[in-house]
Amino acid sequence: MIQAFRSTHVLTPNGLAPATLLVENGRIAAVLEWADAPPETALNDFGDLVLLPGLVDSHVHINEPGRSEWEGFATATQAAAAGGVTTLVDMPLNCIPETTDVNALNAKRAAAHGKAWVDWAAWGGVVRGNAGALLPLARAGVPGFKCFLIHSGIDGFAWVDEADLRLALAKLRGTGLPLLAHAELTGPVDAATARLNGANADWRRYSTYLASRPDAAEVDAIALLIRLAEEYSTPIHIVHLSSAKALPLLAEARGRGVPVTVETCVHYLWFDAEAIPDGATGLKCAPPIRDAANREALWDALAAGEIDMVITDHSPCPPAMKGRDEGRWDRAWGGIAGLGLALPVFWTAMARRGFKLEKLGEWMAAAPARLAGFAGRKGTLAVGADADIVVFDPDAEWTVAEKHFHFRHKLSAYLGAKLQGRVEETWLHGEQIYAADGFIGTARGRELVRQ
Ligand SMILES: [Zn+2]
Repeated sequence: MIQAFRSTHVLTPNGLAPATLLVENGRIAAVLEWADAPPETALNDFGDLVLLPGLVDSHVHINEPGRSEWEGFATATQAAAAGGVTTLVDMPLNCIPETTDVNALNAKRAAAHGKAWVDWAAWGGVVRGNAGALLPLARAGVPGFKCFLIHSGIDGFAWVDEADLRLALAKLRGTGLPLLAHAELTGPVDAATARLNGANADWRRYSTYLASRPDAAEVDAIALLIRLAEEYSTPIHIVHLSSAKALPLLAEARGRGVPVTVETCVHYLWFDAEAIPDGATGLKCAPPIRDAANREALWDALAAGEIDMVITDHSPCPPAMKGRDEGRWDRAWGGIAGLGLALPVFWTAMARRGFKLEKLGEWMAAAPARLAGFAGRKGTLAVGADADIVVFDPDAEWTVAEKHFHFRHKLSAYLGAKLQGRVEETWLHGEQIYAADGFIGTARGRELVRQ
């Protein structure tokens, strides 16, 4: 069956304009003028609503298998569908077994079977001692690898130092697969924490937590990663950049052609340290949310093309682990649940700053698709791409309530946020999977492997 999707606002690589998308066998077969929908097609006319490419979130923690009491494929992918995200790339650390060899990847595939409402892929993990497992994982289809330069919070996912990184990069060189890195060095964090404890700092205060994860931890880690990306000519991707102080280093390296890319998170662009109450450990994440001036510097860097993409780093846990009764930042689990909310939150913040929707398509769809090796196939409304389509009302105003949370635990730092922009429908491979707070059909998501 040939379908047509028509609106006066379709976001294609050429910009936002009236268009008709012809969809055949789940893929976009043609991008036509608005008036040119062929008469024999099944026409879906969306009027003036915006048609966006299905978003790609290349940084989520699904936690299954092994920690499905934290999150899981069914709930995470439903949250994604409700938020206009049609491709997820799962991080390798919170599942058991951690995705550090092919057997573990196969366990994840088995766990996902029949549960994924959107398409997904799995990053492989680089940990101390698994360099020999990297090429087999690459051959098994992972789109790249993730590592930590500091304790990850998960004892089974060992962090790596420069020597370990060199072993991994020697394997990855020439594969074209990126190494994603949590860029905080342990030295500055340990030193700051010892200083704070020596001064009997109050761990209920946000300022204590912020001081314990200084900018220098990020800046020093990024300097090391830039050096290695250059030396090994292997792409390194900085995940969840928080510190704007690292931006000059990154811009300089990128200007010299060093293969380094960088993402930031919706929560770093939305919240600021000044507004975080003491004890509000629901907002704990690492690196931490910094001050408002830092946040605005991140926005400037996005505008200047110095940050490539915006993701959620959706990382939920059972509510008790957030330690909200105790309110101690040193004991709470670090991670913010944002899957399903990222598009309206980010769009609200963009609109306030005068950004256009075209940029959203680049930052939340095309760029993360490129990172994962799915350019042209995901994150774009262009001929040959999967017909993953989001119907978006950019003007609808609403307030985030628990009923909008489709992830496992109804806990999110965005509760109560007043937002602009709402996902009306989500389509995957030309089939509708979500409409106005309801899911349609069954879990039809597929695993994406890098070819
Ligand atoms: Zn993460």
